[in-house]
Amino acid sequence: MLLLDIIAAGQATAFDAVAATQAYIDTVPAEQVAQVAAYHEGQNWLNLASGVLAIVIFFVLLQIGFAKNLRDRFERSMPNWLARLPFIFVLILVATVLTFPLDYYVGFVREHAFDLATQDFGGWFGDYLTANAVGLAISSLSLWLLYALINWLKSSWWIVGAIGGGALVALLIMASPVYIAPLFNDYTPLEQGELRDGLEAIAAASGIPASDIVVYNASAQTTRLTANVSGLGSTVRIALGDTLLDQASEEEILSVMAHEIGHYVLGHTTRTIYFTVAILAFGFAFVHFSFGWANRRFGGSWSIRGIGDIAGLPLFLLLFTFYSTLLIPVQNNYVRWGEMEADAYGLEAARQPDGFATTALRISTYRKIEPSAIEEFLFHHHPSGRSRIERAMNWKAEQLALGADDQSTELALDRARSIFEESAQEDATE
Ligand SMILES: [Zn+2]
Repeated sequence: MLLLDIIAAGQATAFDAVAATQAYIDTVPAEQVAQVAAYHEGQNWLNLASGVLAIVIFFVLLQIGFAKNLRDRFERSMPNWLARLPFIFVLILVATVLTFPLDYYVGFVREHAFDLATQDFGGWFGDYLTANAVGLAISSLSLWLLYALINWLKSSWWIVGAIGGGALVALLIMASPVYIAPLFNDYTPLEQGELRDGLEAIAAASGIPASDIVVYNASAQTTRLTANVSGLGSTVRIALGDTLLDQASEEEILSVMAHEIGHYVLGHTTRTIYFTVAILAFGFAFVHFSFGWANRRFGGSWSIRGIGDIAGLPLFLLLFTFYSTLLIPVQNNYVRWGEMEADAYGLEAARQPDGFATTALRISTYRKIEPSAIEEFLFHHHPSGRSRIERAMNWKAEQLALGADDQSTELALDRARSIFEESAQEDATE
């Protein structure tokens, strides 16, 4: 109770943002802090491991002659430009099957071990098959087009390919809410009521149509509180997970949605498409300039005729995976930058600093709340719980200094404690 007293005493004179931040952090039970740290740190290593596993798989497929035999088989029965398509399809299918054990562990076993998943194996596997079928179709066609480009342009394919990749990503983002997301979840308009009124007010103040706010059954897969902005142009919408709707208070939901509206208003989707073009251009250039060297150095038995030869696809993917694994921190920092901007926007739009702070606590059931600076820099794609609460409390202090009145921190702290009491009770009854 000591910290509460400090806050109560502070409020009589001036609001102490540092003490309030600490009081929020202290509501998280030590046991949970340890469990989430184990989950999140493991996840970082597993991301790295999946990159290494892919590199090993591609290397083995080259080394045992699988790639060259597959190419020869398809090229015997059809022209080279056409033979590439079934080659790509089979190669990606084989790589997917080989990575299945790791995907199963990360996506199913581990999520259940940390109480984050709600699906049985059948449900999970169905989603897994759907996702991979869609991925296989899209990646086969796009790699086929990329190889046509490589063979046609020879030296400048990597620039044109990166721009084409950006266009494809834009198309996928646009199609996703209409054609892809409904394969996994049901989306319905948010019901009329106080919450919708509040969200519509924020949406109207931000200049976006509130008809684009929908609810989806996130609880079919996960216990995580989720919301997102998806789509592009005419398909843009803000989706609110039912997990958020069921568990969070109105202040919390408003603060989350104002954050999502921030992504929308600040044009983050468009910026991400440009970022993708840059990432692809550097990656393709890296592949273009290292392919010949790697083939000469290691490929004595691979019989790859050059970068345009489809038998070199595993080497192409190996080099690209190496690049993108090294780039994880760059991508994380890019995403975190947008998240911080959306946080700042969301605080101004929703004016719910305590709702924002307790949401950061709720999210700390799967994201480490206080990572070290280096850990946050390298591995986190969102600001840490602590920095988010700090931002909210500093914002609140500014508002109070400007004359806003406040009684909410104590109430919100009680709510913060009850978040963890509820989850402890649920654990006890399970
Ligand atoms: Zn965000």
